[in-house]
Amino acid sequence: MRKKLVFFILPIVLFCVVFSFYLFIVLLKKYGLYSQVNDILQFRFDFLQYAFSSFIFTIAFATILVIFKLDFILKPIKSLTSIATKIALGQYEKRIDFYESDEIGQLSHSFNLMASRLEDTIKDLNDKKNKLYSILNSMDDGVIFVDNEQNIILINPAAMDLFDIKGDVKNRYILEVIRDSRIYEILKNKDEAPTEIVINNSKYRIIQTKAISVSDFATQKEIGVLLVFHDVTKIKTLEKMRSDFVANVSHELKTPLTSIKGFAETLKYVEDSATREKFLDIINVEAERLSRLINDILTLSELEHKDYSVNFQKVCLNDSIDEVYYIMQTIANEKNIKLNFDVTNEKLYINGDRDKFKQMMINLVDNAIKYTPSGGSVEVTLRKNKDNANIIIKDTGIGIPKQHLPRLFERFYRVDKARSRSMGGTGLGLAIVKHILMIFNGRIDVESEINKGTKFTITLPLYYKS
Ligand code: ADP
Repeated sequence: MRKKLVFFILPIVLFCVVFSFYLFIVLLKKYGLYSQVNDILQFRFDFLQYAFSSFIFTIAFATILVIFKLDFILKPIKSLTSIATKIALGQYEKRIDFYESDEIGQLSHSFNLMASRLEDTIKDLNDKKNKLYSILNSMDDGVIFVDNEQNIILINPAAMDLFDIKGDVKNRYILEVIRDSRIYEILKNKDEAPTEIVINNSKYRIIQTKAISVSDFATQKEIGVLLVFHDVTKIKTLEKMRSDFVANVSHELKTPLTSIKGFAETLKYVEDSATREKFLDIINVEAERLSRLINDILTLSELEHKDYSVNFQKVCLNDSIDEVYYIMQTIANEKNIKLNFDVTNEKLYINGDRDKFKQMMINLVDNAIKYTPSGGSVEVTLRKNKDNANIIIKDTGIGIPKQHLPRLFERFYRVDKARSRSMGGTGLGLAIVKHILMIFNGRIDVESEINKGTKFTITLPLYYKS
């Protein structure tokens, strides 16, 4: 800028000098160099007058020129400064509209180009940042990134929820935020196989944790460690359920089989026909139990794997419940239990599978009869409740202690194992009921009082409203 000003001021100064010299020559010519001495004084005076006025004129002219030129130079610089400040404050779309072809124009052009690139880069960075944050925020896995000093640089909501972290913890030492020595061990053994840890703060969770060291892309220098926390509670629970189920099935199958085997072997040495008859009856009962058990296991597995919704049809609840009444009536009569079915006159329909619905009802009514002593009663009611059908199966039986109610629908869960077995129960009846209701989008609630009775309430969405 200084150079540029010198370039402007220099010709002006030169112009002044030349103009003054010109005036001097003109005056010399006018008065002659060697004219009379008398005139010399007048010459001096005139000369000084001319020289002074020309000097003033030149200075004024030069000042106007400089001011004009300065303003001309400073205007784009001022606008450059103001735009640069605005860009620094985040207004990346700002540009300089100065189109001169001189150096200032070129500088403005380069500045605009730089601002465009900066805007593109910032946009790109923001875009990437947004993508990264939306991925991290929507992830179920917890993610924490710590720098080489183990200060938290990034943490996603899943990780905050996992460790019950509240507020801003950025730039804080990780072990100060998560007071768990296992995190220290994991960070120490980074890049090794995932470790499983159990977290039991707000709820019980099994977490698979992995620490991966992160390096700078360009320099390959380590810049921190990424911790990933993957919740495997569901998988582990399912694995446990599966292994428990296998163990239970083996155990349930083993009991009748051992019995059958034992009696069949003893039978060889029994000559008394009455005892033989008795043994054969036991073998028959056990074989039936075995068959029921296998049937229930197959039903459960089918319910889990088959997509019943594909063959859903309009099922009339009134008619199906009537059919269940005729099937169960004999069993109830045999046990001297009063079976009372109270079905609404209004025809109610669901979208489902008729056989599975009947099987669910049979299981519940069969249980009600099974766990109600002789002389008791079982009542089944069907009513419409807004867009749902309500089916109530109520008995006056032995009831279920409160602490057993939450686990009642688990496979092989029985309140009284011996009693259930002696009644020919498999422990799978209610598990099948629950599965069928899941397929029908329904639900079941249970209320019970010991020695007073049990009430199961089924809610099913009505698909075809009558
Ligand atoms: P089970 O074949 O043993 O009857 P379920 O799955 O049908 O198996 O039922 C699980 C357990 O729930 C039963 O063993 C029994 O203890 C209890 N239970 C089910 N229904 C009734 C009921 N109506 N009254 C009392 N107890 C019941």
